[in-house]
Amino acid sequence: MIHGAEIVRPIQPYQASKTYRCPGCESTIPPGTGHVVVVPEDAPDLRRHWHRGCWYKERRRRGT
Ligand SMILES: [Zn+2]
Repeated sequence: MIHGAEIVRPIQPYQASKTYRCPGCESTIPPGTGHVVVVPEDAPDLRRHWHRGCWYKERRRRGT
């Protein structure tokens, strides 16, 4: 699987107004929780919300 460039944006607690599901741990990110959103540059519709810790782990796993 080829990963294109991704834009990682921090979401501040006050910006998090919905519940998201983190693809890293399959649990939810409740509203009001700071996290990150990862947006593939060539497919912005596929953006995913991650816990900060889960995203860092994912990056280590990918070796980037
Ligand atoms: Zn997570």
